[in-house]
Amino acid sequence: MSESNIIDGKAFAARLRERVGNEVKTLKADHGLTPGLAVVLVGEDPASQVYVRSKGKQTVETGMESFEHKLDASTAEADLLGLIDTLNTDDRVHGILVQLPLPDHIDESKVLAAINPDKDVDGFHVINVGRLWTGADAMVPCTPYGCILMLKDALGDLSGKRALVLGRSNIVGKPMAALLLAESCTVTIAHSRTKDLETRCREADILVAAVGRPEMVKGDWIKPGATVIDVGINRIDAPEKGEGKTRLVGDVDFAEARTVAGAITPVPGGVGPMTIACLLRNTLVAARRQKGIQATDI
Ligand code: NDP
Repeated sequence: MSESNIIDGKAFAARLRERVGNEVKTLKADHGLTPGLAVVLVGEDPASQVYVRSKGKQTVETGMESFEHKLDASTAEADLLGLIDTLNTDDRVHGILVQLPLPDHIDESKVLAAINPDKDVDGFHVINVGRLWTGADAMVPCTPYGCILMLKDALGDLSGKRALVLGRSNIVGKPMAALLLAESCTVTIAHSRTKDLETRCREADILVAAVGRPEMVKGDWIKPGATVIDVGINRIDAPEKGEGKTRLVGDVDFAEARTVAGAITPVPGGVGPMTIACLLRNTLVAARRQKGIQATDI
């Protein structure tokens, strides 16, 4: 398979960010409106700190306002809910994202439920889950939305294709299945109890892997010519790079899969970069909707 069958998520995300940036300029010029994204981080989880920094930087680069709220790991649930309440009513804030995971003493579902659904740029609020499954205007979770954009770019019309989503989490697997169904795919959701998993995978024209198991999906699980989207991000030991070194791999055995697939996303450089780009897109969409501004989607 040639390099041209590798879906370049990094380049795709850069193009999406540019389109968002241009729309933000238009919004400022025509309506005097600057979209604002508030990101709340509780505690000092190193990976979360990297994500939050990166989100803030890209928000500003796109011309939007970024509001970062870093709270101590011991912050009481009531105080976090109080902050969300303030952000819900702040006119400068059009999107609110609470970085997960939260410390154990805070009830995640309570916090997500407190976010105004129209500002819920992560799309995790039950109102948005319901809107997504019923075909209403939802805020759509960023990672699956990025996957669907790349799939439509690679394949055009997805209608009638057999899609298999490996994983049924609320943040990736389930919303991914809803988006594929909305594109008129015939969708199977597989998980740890699925029987004959390899056979089910081999039937799929589109295979989306979101399991969190390093290189689990092998080349011979893939239908020749299928499009493979690898959501997994797993850090594994890489003794070939030196003692104590690690590297990132997906849920798909990329070396094997790329010889069989029609198109495939690499890890890193596939789905990952699209997630933040879609967050910026969601913030733009949220700002427009809150002000009743009609525009074609980007
Ligand atoms: P979860 O752990 O919440 O869900 C994993 C799913 O995989 C579950 O539904 C589980 O099934 C299923 N599963 C686990 N083991 C197997 C197995 N052996 N066979 C079949 N199914 C299995 O993970 P997430 O959805 O949150 O994340 C999945 C991956 O995507 C992770 O690697 C994560 O790091 C990555 N990710 C990447 C993002 C990005 O921006 N690129 C964003 C979010 C996640 P069951 O329900 O039966 O237990």
